[in-house]
Amino acid sequence: MKITAVHVDTLELTMEEPFVIASSAMAYGPCDLVRVETDEGITGIGEACPAYEFTGETLWSAADVIGEYLGPAVLGRDPFDLEAIHHVWDRELYTVGNQAAKAAVEMALWDIQGKALGKPLCELIGGRARPALQEVVAFGWDEPEALAADTRAMKALGIHIFKIKVGDTPERDEQRVAAVRETAGPDARITVDANQGWWDAKTAVRGIKLLEKHGIEFAEQPVRMDDLEAARFVRAHVDVPIALDESVRGPREALACAKAEACDMFVVKLMKTGGILNALKVNAIAEAAGITVMVGNMGESSVAMSAHFHVNIALANAVHGDADLPWRPGALEFDIGRGIEQQVVEGISWIDVPKGPGLGIELIEENVERQRVERRW
Ligand SMILES: [Mg+2]
Repeated sequence: MKITAVHVDTLELTMEEPFVIASSAMAYGPCDLVRVETDEGITGIGEACPAYEFTGETLWSAADVIGEYLGPAVLGRDPFDLEAIHHVWDRELYTVGNQAAKAAVEMALWDIQGKALGKPLCELIGGRARPALQEVVAFGWDEPEALAADTRAMKALGIHIFKIKVGDTPERDEQRVAAVRETAGPDARITVDANQGWWDAKTAVRGIKLLEKHGIEFAEQPVRMDDLEAARFVRAHVDVPIALDESVRGPREALACAKAEACDMFVVKLMKTGGILNALKVNAIAEAAGITVMVGNMGESSVAMSAHFHVNIALANAVHGDADLPWRPGALEFDIGRGIEQQVVEGISWIDVPKGPGLGIELIEENVERQRVERRW
């Protein structure tokens, strides 16, 4: 099979409410939608969600890199030859970084592989390590009363795992976490993510110690992404496990974090690793170092979210996952794909990957059209 064409559409996915965290405020989701065609009539789809503060990319930079470099480099190649394709991208074209752009094209190639073999993506990367994923919701910075109301609404939908964005002043963080804990009850699972917001190690230790009283499971990215010494200090001075997200971009950074003994958990996201192949390599480093992984996401549509769920369900070393649904209140107004499955069993909301081959996602073309944007400058 040969790749014959690579197309990229630029979309801005409308969000019902802006999502505010320590490092950014998102009013819409940037989305580079990639379609890869082959000479056997199979088309694969993939999605980039370029988050500037994570990988330095934007909607337009990712589209340019896909259109000018990554796309042309795969024409005429077999979509199964992923190692060779990454080698060309990274070492012959020197397309350093551009991880979300690479993830989008590579995702479409996995989708083609699954469609060619008639197998869902998770079966190509290890099979099922767990039957389903428990749904999680992430709360951005908001007033404690608003967070309590949101917690009540999400509980009613069967959600009992809450990820709370912190990294504000430790006192305001504590008010937010306390509001969610009080409303969610003692059995709910709560995790926190500072997105580098506490910045230095001592503030982070103070913040985490305040939050530990409210039963948090782990704390994510307490300090600056490039300060592994600070992360190591924090890890040594608090009781809860430390997860690193922004610090762990690909295998090289994962190895550095493991060597520095800077964390207990890696957050794996396809937009940081440059795709699934590198995500599996990051997981291999984690396993070898006795580090667990959680599979995160960037709040993408069902296209990339399906890829994250397939990876999450396939990795036995993944102990936690940000299994958020794109269509929950406050998230995307017009999702661009369908296929992800969700059901409530005995009061708990469970997510499953689509049944179909590859990503298993069918595009909702009218929602693609309505959110397409042209360059503004
Ligand atoms: Mg994070």
